[in-house]
Amino acid sequence: MSRILVVAERHHEHLTEGTRKTLACAAALAPEGADLAVLGAGADAAADEGARLAGVARVRLGPQAGFDPPLATVWAPVLARLAADYDAVLMPASSLGRDVTPRASALASGVMITEVAEVVDARTFRRFIYAGNVRLTVRARPEAGRLFLTVRPASWPAVGERTGAAAPVVRDVPDPVPDPATRYVGLEEHASERPDLQSAKRVVSGGRGLGSAENFALLEGLARRLGAALGASRAAVDAGYAPNDLQVGQTGKIIAPDLYLAVAISGAIQHVTGIKDARVIVAINKDPDAPIFKIADIGLVGDLFAIVPALEKALERAGAGS
Ligand SMILES: Cc1cc2nc3c(=O)[nH]c(=O)nc-3n(C[C@H](O)[C@H](O)[C@H](O)COP(=O)(O)OP(=O)(O)OC[C@H]3O[C@@H](n4cnc5c(N)ncnc54)[C@H](O)[C@@H]3O)c2cc1C
Repeated sequence: MSRILVVAERHHEHLTEGTRKTLACAAALAPEGADLAVLGAGADAAADEGARLAGVARVRLGPQAGFDPPLATVWAPVLARLAADYDAVLMPASSLGRDVTPRASALASGVMITEVAEVVDARTFRRFIYAGNVRLTVRARPEAGRLFLTVRPASWPAVGERTGAAAPVVRDVPDPVPDPATRYVGLEEHASERPDLQSAKRVVSGGRGLGSAENFALLEGLARRLGAALGASRAAVDAGYAPNDLQVGQTGKIIAPDLYLAVAISGAIQHVTGIKDARVIVAINKDPDAPIFKIADIGLVGDLFAIVPALEKALERAGAGS
């Protein structure tokens, strides 16, 4: 029986989708349930949310002060201490998880395994390398330290609500120690009415073929009709057509929506690695030989400037979105 701690990531008072997916990975390690640590000021609401999720045995809350904004140098020593009670500590492979977990692992002389896509057994995991083209099986030796894992969200479903009573919540996480060497400068959040790219069920993504930021805005109407998030290729981001946080791919976001609509994206390997877990891929491209068609479930060969407005009109006629 493995003792597992999932460290929650919050967006304001809600747990992130990545946290729910990390709980699914934890359930593969410990079907009897995992503890969930929720840190920071105002974490009480997120803790209540966590206590109602499937697979949570207990929620551990910290002191209100000191964990916000989340600095890895402050979180890691606390996680290293908490880890003493567990066989494995898990976080989503998000910016925060990638920053905190290796530091905590080093402090606790643990074993760090990143981007876990599959659990084989308590100390054996599968993960992808080479832009998703090679699946690696990694085994931590039994005599090596406890495990610190980041979990690849695109490989896991999000856990849902539990059926029985809520899990107990205990307030026993130790006080964080301020780090005088690290200063939080600020957070720049891209405000958008569209759903969050990482957790959206549908994504409309644009590439270099859009040609300008003004043309890129054409995709907003289609995304609105579909209730979709917006995404972009790196070429579109580098050209300034779309903000950086919309980038999908190896060096952007790895996503697994039900529907991915790629508009004027050629299908470079570094882009495809970010979408290969999508359930249905639709590609619009004027080049019939574009590599994106090799992985697309539905391909539309033609000019985006004709197809996108036509699609939007068809959705409007069908009464979809607004
Ligand atoms: C280390 C590394 C990491 C990288 N990471 C990423 C990453 O995370 N994400 C990412 O996306 N890329 C990444 N790249 C870049 C990647 O290799 C490609 O350069 C990039 O994905 C190309 O973007 P694109 O498909 O928009 O542009 P292009 O390859 O230029 O394709 C544009 C497409 O638009 C089509 N088109 C043009 N006009 C129209 C029209 N009017 N109607 C319909 N179709 C049209 C063209 O036929 C073409 O297929 C990375 C590269 C490296 C080396």
